[in-house]
Amino acid sequence: MPTWLVTGGAGFIGGNFVLGAVSRGVKVVNLDALTYAGNLDTLRGLDGNADHVFVQGDIGDRSLVERLLAEHRPDAIVNFAAESHVDRSIDGPGAFVQTNVVGTLALLECARDYWKGLEGARRDGFRFLHVSTDEVYGSLGDSGRFTETTPYAPNSPYSASKAASDHLVRAFHHTYGLPVLTTNCSNNYGPYQFPEKLIPLVIAKALAGEPIPVYGDGLNVRDWLFVEDHCAAIERVLEKGRPGETYNVGGNAERENLVVVRTICRLLDERRPLGDGRSRESLVTFVADRPGHDRRYAIDAGKIRDELGWEPSLGFDEGMARTVDWYLDNADWVKRVLDGSYRLERIGQG
Ligand code: NAD
Repeated sequence: MPTWLVTGGAGFIGGNFVLGAVSRGVKVVNLDALTYAGNLDTLRGLDGNADHVFVQGDIGDRSLVERLLAEHRPDAIVNFAAESHVDRSIDGPGAFVQTNVVGTLALLECARDYWKGLEGARRDGFRFLHVSTDEVYGSLGDSGRFTETTPYAPNSPYSASKAASDHLVRAFHHTYGLPVLTTNCSNNYGPYQFPEKLIPLVIAKALAGEPIPVYGDGLNVRDWLFVEDHCAAIERVLEKGRPGETYNVGGNAERENLVVVRTICRLLDERRPLGDGRSRESLVTFVADRPGHDRRYAIDAGKIRDELGWEPSLGFDEGMARTVDWYLDNADWVKRVLDGSYRLERIGQG
């Protein structure tokens, strides 16, 4: 079975990806800086599993990355590590440029030098997969969808930093021949998502019976994909994608934010009715819009479907029901994030 160096594997999507890959017998070396978004609780099920090596460290630390590559000789690098929250990028863009741009560049340079030293089938088979977002394409009007050839037009510091990293990844293919792959995915939801993001935030507020903040008029449209489907798409691209190509990944599930919020309220009302008989929808509170808030994103995922045979397995309603049930069943995971205790645990450097 292969060995993969996964970065950002203590985060939301990376954590789901690592859990899935290790369960299928892949050896994963998991490099994560454990910023506020990194959570070792997510990986608790892998304690004692020799196929998971966790290393706390920064993708921008060249000597550490070089040592891990020399020691573990991975067949692929999958780069999830990033600052990922748009609101935080508005308050402080510097960290986004540091990790998403400067850090990705360091990782690319280490990958290039490592790949150059490989021989034969190992060299031919090596892949660098960069996980990116549909936000690099900017905002859509009422119609149309992003394809792989849509011009980049990022509007937030987050999406600008991801766009820059995508360009560096592309340049490392064209300039040095590094066998790179890029995936641009729509909004993910599912287990282990940090409760600053829309869906887990709404679940937490709604469960507590607190006001549910909704930006602007709530009519911004996003495409939603269940996180395990995103992970399956990444594995498919890793296995079958053509080096140098990018693949858009989406859920065929465009929803206005308000519809997402109402869906969560309905699911929670069915499962845990509020004691006073109120519907949770009454908790919705409109707040001032996010600056530069993109109106609509939509993904045309035809290329990955036609070339690689990947399609989402879960529709929005089923995925949302599974997600709400997961948060209800894993209240302790959420509680430890909300009270900060998830950060108290750190493990030694690998
Ligand atoms: P996340 O914020 O939950 O996780 C990011 C992880 O990266 C954390 O564990 C953090 O500790 C780690 N990290 C941050 N800086 C690091 C550094 N310098 N070195 C090593 N590790 C570092 O993010 P996520 O939602 O899981 O997103 C993962 C990737 O997928 C990101 O690149 C993001 O741009 C992309 N993406 C996310 C979505 C989404 O809906 N969440 C959609 C499309 C693409």
